[in-house]
Amino acid sequence: MTTDPRRHVPRTDTLLADPQLAAAGERLGRGLVKGAVQRVQQRIRDGEVAPPDAVDAVLAALPTTAGSLRPVLNATGVLVHTNLGRAPLSAAAVEAIVAASGTTDVELDLATGRRGPRGEAAIGALLDAVPAAEAALVVNNCAAALALVATALASGRELVLARGELVEIGDGFRIPDLLVSTGARLREVGTTNRVTLADYRGALGPDTGAVLKVHPSNFVVRGFTRAVDVGELGAALAGTGIPLVADVGSGLLRPHALLPDEPDLQTTLTAGADLVLASGDKLLGGPQAGLVLGRAELVQRLRRHPLYRALRVDKTTLAALEATLRGPLPPVQEMLLADVAELRARARALAARFADAGLDATAVDAPARVGGGGAPEQPLAGAAVSLPESFAARLRRAAPPVVGYVEGNRTLLNLRSVPPSADGTLAAAVLGLADR
Ligand SMILES: *Cc1c(COP(=O)(O)O)cnc(C)c1O
Repeated sequence: MTTDPRRHVPRTDTLLADPQLAAAGERLGRGLVKGAVQRVQQRIRDGEVAPPDAVDAVLAALPTTAGSLRPVLNATGVLVHTNLGRAPLSAAAVEAIVAASGTTDVELDLATGRRGPRGEAAIGALLDAVPAAEAALVVNNCAAALALVATALASGRELVLARGELVEIGDGFRIPDLLVSTGARLREVGTTNRVTLADYRGALGPDTGAVLKVHPSNFVVRGFTRAVDVGELGAALAGTGIPLVADVGSGLLRPHALLPDEPDLQTTLTAGADLVLASGDKLLGGPQAGLVLGRAELVQRLRRHPLYRALRVDKTTLAALEATLRGPLPPVQEMLLADVAELRARARALAARFADAGLDATAVDAPARVGGGGAPEQPLAGAAVSLPESFAARLRRAAPPVVGYVEGNRTLLNLRSVPPSADGTLAAAVLGLADR
């Protein structure tokens, strides 16, 4: 029994003192390395790892960063995929985050040495991008923007909202539930499919805190329908002092030629909204954030409300937002503009490489989507590599994980949501499975 590996399990202290593991401890934290050491010791006791291989086994088991979130290739064809972290940030935004992540001048005017307004540069970038806005505010996400608006403008009062705009965004998030949780009373007007200006007019009164329009991001109502647009509503509310707030959701700053049905911030404000709300990590292609733009007096009221402090964003979000607005086009916008012929050529090139490696791979056309609750009816052309069905699950566990989807009995890797620069990584992940 002297060869029993259990008798030769290296001691924790010995392993932790190994120069490579000590260095890993400096970088990742000793606790994390110790946990990996203990798991390897158990595998040695179980006879799965030979004692001399202990250090290598620990190194192999260590994550690349102290956080466990890993980069994943999004081959779903859904450009803004909520389960995959929505918008991937541009390299410029990532650099801005790194630069801002230490101590930084987020609230200090370095010229005077006095306290400065927080997030001034990001706000300036927003106002440059949306000139119809007098002022802007950034909070944690669009849901936070809605909560802040409902609390500051309509708590204990009425929030007028069309029945057809009582939207559920996803994962059980229902905008009316959020609004009611702030203490605002919902005054629903119209029916599911139709609402008129007279319906809105009939609901206005001394108790009205605000009128809210919510873009039905992820569905459309067709047939016998009628809605009141921001222009008509704004004109009807002019002179009443009742603010018109429009939640446009997707975060388009200006009209987009490929997405004619998506509302944008500039047009919505120009049409007559007093405030517009949007997400930062959908079509804008930036960090998770809630953008509030519009009349200075209303933005100021929101900023001064005590709840704002609980919803404000951190320095890295401000940095990423500013870089998204001022820097090169972020990936989501690039993917939106992708050329179909190029997508097909990429799919053919990848499929040919996979076929050379003996895989049953072909290039196919496959539709893509904006996702993230945006432009539900807008088909986007896409091209995919088609592989046997079993690849979907195996690729999710590959390094790096690749998330495609199964259609029919084939796994499709849709390239519309993969940046061209990642084709090599995607190929390596697939080829890594070829000979197994
Ligand atoms: C997506 C969306 C929201 C929620 O936005 P978050 O940034 O995820 O909080 C709210 N309203 C509309 C219209 C949306 O499309």
